[in-house]
Amino acid sequence: MIDQLSEYFRFMRDMGELEIPLPVEQIQFFKKAHPPHSNKENDSKSKSESIEQLIEDARNCKKCELYKTRNKLVFGCGSLDSEIIFIGEAPGRQEDLTGIPFIGQAGKLLDKILEAVKLQRENVYIANILKDRPPNNRDPKIEEEHACLPFLIKQIQIIRPKIICCLGRVSAKALLKINYSMKEMRGKIYSYQGIPLIVTYHPAALLRNAKLKRPTWDDFQFLLRTLDEIRCKNNNP
Ligand code: SF4
Repeated sequence: MIDQLSEYFRFMRDMGELEIPLPVEQIQFFKKAHPPHSNKENDSKSKSESIEQLIEDARNCKKCELYKTRNKLVFGCGSLDSEIIFIGEAPGRQEDLTGIPFIGQAGKLLDKILEAVKLQRENVYIANILKDRPPNNRDPKIEEEHACLPFLIKQIQIIRPKIICCLGRVSAKALLKINYSMKEMRGKIYSYQGIPLIVTYHPAALLRNAKLKRPTWDDFQFLLRTLDEIRCKNNNP
């Protein structure tokens, strides 16, 4: 191919051509050899660079006391191109040891719920309000939530999901700055920075009370219906 092109260029030069048009097949060859980066590729690359920087910032963070007892930072996991972000409260023991959110008993239940509604864990994004584990799994303190929230806000801004699903009252309260019961918040569509947000039970609550499984199933159906409506709206503005 290179030899053919050299011959072609020599021929055209000898013919006195200063601007040399490339034959179609050569243009196709060069396009194949040097494909332009698609917007999606560039977007994913810049998302992953921004997230890496944010993780590094969180690793160095000393804005609250929790860094002192951390084994591993639990920043978040999943696809940066996800349409859904699930947000829990704080890492537990297993999460602190591995650096992966929702992998203890509650995480295994979340995996089952995701599987039941045909969502794959690797295709969604999962994070918590706090990036470090509160000792003995105590409730997050309000000042810890305030200190850590900017990381989650940036995560959401980078990923730009179509919908946010808060798992439990703590994450809903931290993001929406409201203090309602689960009963009051379920089945409604809130808005966080223009992104629709719905609230359901934290999987740990389901482990304590199996009766919450049915309403959680309803909430996930509501989540998927809402996501479908958002997709339709985006396709037919
Ligand atoms: S929990 Fe959040 S704010 Fe506190 S030290 Fe860890 S990263 Fe920083």
